[in-house]
Amino acid sequence: MNVLVLNCGSSSLKYQLFRMPEEKVLIRGGIEKIGSDDAQHFYKAEGQDGQGSHEGTSTSEILDHREALRQVLHVVTRESGVLQSVNEISAVGHRVVHGGEQFALSTFLTDEVKHAIRDNVELAPLHNPANLQGIEAMEDVLPGVKQVAVFDTAFHQSMPPEHYLYPIPYVLYKRHKVRRYGFHGTSHRYVSSRVPFLVHRDLMNLKVISCHIGNGASVTAIQNGRSIDTSMGMTPLEGVMMGTRSGDIDPSIQGYVTAKEELTQEDFASMLNKHSGLFGISGLSGDMRKITEARAKGSARSALAFDMYEYRIRKYIGAYVAAMNGVDVLLFTAGVGENSPLLRRKICDHLTYLGLEIDVQANDTGKGERIISTSASRVTVCVIPTNEELMIARDTQLLVSGLESWGK
Ligand code: ADP
Repeated sequence: MNVLVLNCGSSSLKYQLFRMPEEKVLIRGGIEKIGSDDAQHFYKAEGQDGQGSHEGTSTSEILDHREALRQVLHVVTRESGVLQSVNEISAVGHRVVHGGEQFALSTFLTDEVKHAIRDNVELAPLHNPANLQGIEAMEDVLPGVKQVAVFDTAFHQSMPPEHYLYPIPYVLYKRHKVRRYGFHGTSHRYVSSRVPFLVHRDLMNLKVISCHIGNGASVTAIQNGRSIDTSMGMTPLEGVMMGTRSGDIDPSIQGYVTAKEELTQEDFASMLNKHSGLFGISGLSGDMRKITEARAKGSARSALAFDMYEYRIRKYIGAYVAAMNGVDVLLFTAGVGENSPLLRRKICDHLTYLGLEIDVQANDTGKGERIISTSASRVTVCVIPTNEELMIARDTQLLVSGLESWGK
C-alpha cells in the first residue's frame, strides 16, 4: 500500500510517499512560496535498493494548494517515475495541528471531522486553515482516495484535568476551551515508541521525559506510555525558550510593555512568536548552529542566549521528575536535540543528583538512535531522531487496513 503523507502550511507544503508496511520512503519533497509566480518545488526520489536515487527542482507559477498538489502528483508519477499512476496511491495522511478536545486518536477525514478542525481554527489560526486547505485540495485532485487526519495535539489528550487546566476562572475553560493542549504529539509518540527497542523494557512500566528541541521546542512527561504533562500550552508559545518564541513569561509583561512601547496586542504576540527566544536575546539568530558558533567566538549575548535556553529546558525536566516521582529515560530529539552534543551535555551535567551519568564519547561522537548514558547511570539518556511522517503513514495504514479487513 502506498501512503502519501502531507504537511500543508499557508504558503508551503511538504510530502513523503511511503510504501507500507515496508516503511520505505519512495519520494520526499516540498513546495515553497505557493501563491506566487516563482514557487519552488524540490524533490528526492529514492531508487530501488539504494540504486538510482535522483533529485529535481523547478520554479513556476503555483497559485494555490490545488495546483501545488497537481504538481506533486505529476512529479510522483510522470516526472520521477516512482509510480506509474496516481491510482497506486491508496491513502493520504495529513498532519493537522489542532484537534482540540475532540481527537485523542487519528481519524478518517469526514465532513464532521473537517467541521471539528474548522471549529478549532480560533485555537490555531496560523495552522488549521492551511491544513484544511490542503485536505480540501487533496479531495479535489484525488477524489475517492481515503484521507486521514493525524493531530499534533492528540497524544496529549491523556493529560488529567489537574495538569491541563490553568488556574484562572473555570468558566473560561467551559465557555472558551481555555486549557493546555500541547503540541509535537506525533513526535513525542514516535520517539517514545522507540524507547523499548533501545532500553529493552516495556514502555508501560517506564517514566520517560521526552525533549523535542527544534525551532519549536517542547518537553513531555510520559508515564506508562501516556502523556501526563507537556510544556506547550493552549498555543505553542508556552513552555521552554525556543528559536524565536519566548516560552514562559509573566503574563503581566504584556500590559506593561504594550503601554510603554505603544504596541498593539498583535504586535506583542508577533514579538513573542517571532522576535524572542534565542533570537531575541542574542540579537543574532534563532538558529542554534549560529548561536553555538558565535558563542565559541566569544559573543557574550549568544553565550547568554545559550545558557538561558539550556536552563529553561533543565527546569522543565526537573518539574517532570517531580510530576512523575522519578524518571527512567530522558530522551532528546529534533534539530537541536539530535545534533547539539553541547546542549545535551550541559543539561545532563546538572542532573547528576538523579544518578544520571552521561557517556561523553557516545554523546559527542555517536550518530542516530542511541543510548548516551553510561551503563552505571540510573537514568538512561537517549538520542532518538524523530520521524513524524512515518508515524502519520503508520496511522493511515492502520486505519485503512482496519477498514479493509471489515470488508467496507
Ligand atoms: P523544525 O521545528 O522547524 O522542524 P528542526 O527540528 O529542523 O526544526 O530544528 C531546527 C533547529 O535545529 C535549528 O535551530 C538548527 O540550528 C538546529 N540544528 C540543526 N543542526 C544542528 C547542529 N548540527 N547543531 C546545533 N543545532 C542544529
